[in-house]
Formats: sequence, C-alpha cells, structure tokens
Amino acid sequence: MQEQNRLFGFPMERLAGIIKECGFRCGCCGQCCTRRVNGHVFLLDHDVGLIRTIDPRAVEPAPGPEFRDGSGTFYVSGFALRSKGDAAGSCWFLEDSRCRIYNHRPYGCRIYPFMLRRKPDALGNVDWRYIADGGEHGEYHHPIPWEACLELARDIKMYENAVLTQEISFLEVVENHFSQHRVQHGTMLSHDPGRQFPDDHPVTVMAYYEGTLEKHHVRGGYDH
Ligand code: SF4
Ligand code: SF4
Repeated sequence: MQEQNRLFGFPMERLAGIIKECGFRCGCCGQCCTRRVNGHVFLLDHDVGLIRTIDPRAVEPAPGPEFRDGSGTFYVSGFALRSKGDAAGSCWFLEDSRCRIYNHRPYGCRIYPFMLRRKPDALGNVDWRYIADGGEHGEYHHPIPWEACLELARDIKMYENAVLTQEISFLEVVENHFSQHRVQHGTMLSHDPGRQFPDDHPVTVMAYYEGTLEKHHVRGGYDH
C-alpha cells in the first residue's frame, strides 16, 4: 500500500517528460517476447480472462511464487504467458517475430519497455526504474508528441497500480486461506525471485485469479 501511495504521488508530467526525453522507438525485433530477454510476462486478471477466451493453453501459473506451505504447495500472485518451449523461450503467441494477438496483447506488453516501479540496483539501493534494458534494444531520441507521452504515462501508472492492487488482494486471500485452513508456512526452496518450479516432479501451485486461488499441477513452469 505504501508503494501504491508512492506511485500515486509520482507526477504524471515527470513521467511523460522521461518518455519524451527517451524518445524510444521499437525496432520490432521480437526479442522482448522471449524468455531469453524477459523472464516472463506477468498477466493481470483482465489479461488472463481475455487470453483464456483466445487460447486457454497460453497461460500458466507465474514463476516466482511468494509462499510455500508446510505440505509443499506453492502460492503465486497470478499467471504468466506460456512459452512455446523452443530454445529462445518464445511467447506462445510469437510468430515470425510478430505478435499473433497484437490487438489483444496483455497490458504489460503494451507499455513495454517502460515501467514505473522502485527496484534495487546491484548495490541494493532502491530507486525508481523507468525503462527495461535501456539502450540495449530499439532506437532512442525520436520526437514523440507530448500528448502521446502523457497518454503512455497514464497507461504505465494504471498498469503499475493494477499490479500492486492484484498483489495486495493476493496477500489478503492467502492470509485468509492460511488461517481458515490452519495451513502452516513452509520454507521456500530458493530466494531467487525468478525461480522456476522444480522440473523433476510436479508440484501443486495455488495461483491467484479474481479473488480466489486456483489449484494447478506444475512441472518446471509448465501446467499439467
Ligand atoms: S503476447 Fe504478443 S506482445 Fe506479448 S509477449 Fe507474447 S508475442 Fe509478445
Ligand atoms: S521493445 Fe525492444 S526488444 Fe521488444 S521488439 Fe521492440 S526493440 Fe525489440
């Protein structure tokens, strides 16, 4: 909730100014649609609902579960796009470097590579981050109309707020679930935030969706 308050307090014009100064233009290389570049595309509830109507096989519980209980069940705050399982880890919808569902692509894909969230750097100093992989892809310093910068800034803030809202709701649901079912906390297997589920045996994952926890059996990131 504190992060949400910080987000609300971030001036829209300042973010629009960063976008303008950056002048990013996508080179349409399709690299951000692979796990080689992006660990996973996190989906908001709205995205999950829409993508399930297009192809229900395209979503799976997101990696990086937040909790594990005493019986080994994992708990994660949402879903992610499935990869095709090729060497690059291409998104399920990537074909010839193009998105097959471009007009229905998830919110996270719409604002990429921009973001507005506080993250630690290599030294652990937490500060605002605005762009993913800055300078390593696409083209920069193109003129972008101010109105377009403002519109993108609004979309970014809306997206980041939705991610935080979903995370807060997930925490409330998990807290209720643990207390109602007298579930004990277990230890996590790894502290790596990008951790995948084990691939040598299936595990039970409770994935948050629209105020409930859906039960899935997952092996190495793939839903079975
Ligand atoms: S949904 Fe489309 S834009 Fe998003 S990662 Fe997949 S291919 Fe890329
Ligand atoms: S956003 Fe960047 S990585 Fe993604 S397609 Fe455009 S240039 Fe490539």
